[in-house]
Amino acid sequence: MTIAIIAHDGKKAEMVGFIKDHTELFQKKSIQLIATGTTGSHLERANLQVEKMRSGPMGGDAQIASRLVEGEIDMVIFFRDPLGKHPHEVDVSMLMRLCDVHNIPLATNHAAALRFIQTL
Ligand code: PGA
Repeated sequence: MTIAIIAHDGKKAEMVGFIKDHTELFQKKSIQLIATGTTGSHLERANLQVEKMRSGPMGGDAQIASRLVEGEIDMVIFFRDPLGKHPHEVDVSMLMRLCDVHNIPLATNHAAALRFIQTL
Protein backbone atom coordinates (compact mmCIF):
# COMPACT_ATOMS: atom_id res chain seq x y z
CA MET A 1 0.00 0.00 0.00
CA THR A 2 1.57 3.26 -1.11
CA ILE A 3 0.10 6.49 0.24
CA ALA A 4 0.92 9.89 -1.20
CA ILE A 5 0.90 12.74 1.30
CA ILE A 6 0.85 16.37 0.26
CA ALA A 7 0.11 19.51 2.25
CA HIS A 8 -0.16 23.08 1.08
CA ASP A 9 1.89 25.50 3.20
CA GLY A 10 -1.16 26.79 5.07
CA LYS A 11 -2.01 23.22 6.10
CA LYS A 12 1.42 21.83 6.95
CA ALA A 13 1.03 22.28 10.70
CA GLU A 14 -2.30 20.44 10.58
CA MET A 15 -0.76 17.68 8.47
CA VAL A 16 2.13 17.28 10.94
CA GLY A 17 -0.37 16.97 13.79
CA PHE A 18 -2.30 14.33 11.86
CA ILE A 19 0.88 12.38 11.14
CA LYS A 20 2.09 12.55 14.73
CA ASP A 21 -1.27 11.32 15.98
CA HIS A 22 -0.88 8.24 13.75
CA THR A 23 2.89 7.69 13.59
CA GLU A 24 2.62 4.01 14.50
CA LEU A 25 0.27 3.36 11.62
CA PHE A 26 2.44 5.20 9.10
CA GLN A 27 5.55 3.35 10.34
CA LYS A 28 4.06 -0.04 9.43
CA LYS A 29 6.21 -2.01 7.01
CA SER A 30 3.17 -2.59 4.80
CA ILE A 31 2.76 1.14 4.19
CA GLN A 32 5.06 3.09 1.89
CA LEU A 33 4.92 6.87 1.87
CA ILE A 34 5.61 9.21 -1.00
CA ALA A 35 5.36 12.99 -0.63
CA THR A 36 6.10 16.31 -2.24
CA GLY A 37 9.42 17.78 -1.16
CA THR A 38 8.63 20.04 1.77
CA THR A 39 5.84 17.84 3.05
CA GLY A 40 8.28 14.93 2.89
CA SER A 41 10.85 16.81 4.97
CA HIS A 42 8.21 17.30 7.66
CA LEU A 43 7.44 13.58 7.58
CA GLU A 44 11.13 12.75 7.98
CA ARG A 45 11.33 15.01 11.00
CA ALA A 46 8.45 12.98 12.43
CA ASN A 47 10.66 9.86 12.04
CA LEU A 48 8.90 8.47 9.01
CA GLN A 49 10.55 6.96 5.95
CA VAL A 50 9.30 8.66 2.84
CA GLU A 51 10.20 8.91 -0.82
CA LYS A 52 10.44 12.62 -1.54
CA MET A 53 9.57 14.15 -4.87
CA ARG A 54 10.32 17.75 -5.90
CA SER A 55 8.60 20.51 -4.02
CA GLY A 56 5.00 21.01 -5.17
CA PRO A 57 5.53 24.29 -7.05
CA MET A 58 8.59 22.73 -8.76
CA GLY A 59 6.62 19.75 -10.10
CA GLY A 60 6.23 17.43 -7.11
CA ASP A 61 2.47 17.08 -7.54
CA ALA A 62 3.03 16.29 -11.21
CA GLN A 63 5.59 13.62 -10.27
CA ILE A 64 3.10 12.05 -7.89
CA ALA A 65 0.42 12.20 -10.60
CA SER A 66 2.78 10.36 -12.93
CA ARG A 67 3.37 7.60 -10.34
CA LEU A 68 -0.38 7.35 -9.83
CA VAL A 69 -0.97 6.88 -13.57
CA GLU A 70 1.62 4.07 -13.49
CA GLY A 71 -0.47 2.31 -10.84
CA GLU A 72 2.05 2.88 -8.06
CA ILE A 73 -0.14 4.85 -5.64
CA ASP A 74 -3.13 3.46 -3.75
CA MET A 75 -4.32 6.50 -1.80
CA VAL A 76 -3.74 10.25 -1.79
CA ILE A 77 -4.02 12.38 1.32
CA PHE A 78 -3.85 16.03 0.32
CA PHE A 79 -4.21 18.68 3.00
CA ARG A 80 -5.37 21.42 0.65
CA ASP A 81 -5.55 25.04 1.66
CA PRO A 82 -8.73 26.29 -0.02
CA LEU A 83 -8.05 29.88 1.05
CA GLY A 84 -4.57 30.28 -0.41
CA LYS A 85 -3.30 31.02 -3.90
CA HIS A 86 -0.96 28.43 -5.35
CA PRO A 87 1.32 28.96 -8.36
CA HIS A 88 0.98 25.27 -9.24
CA GLU A 89 -2.83 25.09 -9.05
CA VAL A 90 -2.89 23.55 -12.50
CA ASP A 91 -0.73 20.64 -11.27
CA VAL A 92 -2.99 20.16 -8.26
CA SER A 93 -6.06 20.05 -10.51
CA MET A 94 -4.32 17.53 -12.73
CA LEU A 95 -3.50 15.30 -9.79
CA MET A 96 -7.08 15.39 -8.53
CA ARG A 97 -8.47 14.70 -11.99
CA LEU A 98 -6.17 11.73 -12.41
CA CYS A 99 -7.31 10.34 -9.05
CA ASP A 100 -10.81 10.30 -10.50
CA VAL A 101 -9.68 8.90 -13.84
CA HIS A 102 -7.88 6.02 -12.13
CA ASN A 103 -10.33 5.60 -9.24
CA ILE A 104 -7.76 6.33 -6.55
CA PRO A 105 -9.16 7.45 -3.18
CA LEU A 106 -8.35 11.11 -2.53
CA ALA A 107 -8.80 12.82 0.84
CA THR A 108 -8.56 16.59 0.57
CA ASN A 109 -9.09 17.56 4.20
CA HIS A 110 -8.33 16.39 7.73
CA ALA A 111 -11.73 14.80 8.38
CA ALA A 112 -11.56 12.77 5.19
CA ALA A 113 -7.98 11.71 5.96
CA LEU A 114 -9.12 10.42 9.36
CA ARG A 115 -11.88 8.36 7.74
CA PHE A 116 -9.47 7.01 5.14
CA ILE A 117 -6.90 5.76 7.60
CA GLN A 118 -9.59 3.91 9.55
CA THR A 119 -9.66 1.56 6.56
CA LEU A 120 -5.96 0.67 6.87
P1 PGA B 1 5.50 20.89 -0.80
O1 PGA B 1 4.41 20.88 -1.95
O2 PGA B 1 5.26 19.71 0.07
O3 PGA B 1 6.82 20.79 -1.52
O4 PGA B 1 5.35 22.18 -0.07
C1 PGA B 1 3.06 20.78 -1.60
C2 PGA B 1 2.21 21.49 -2.58
O5 PGA B 1 1.80 20.90 -3.58
O6 PGA B 1 1.92 22.68 -2.36
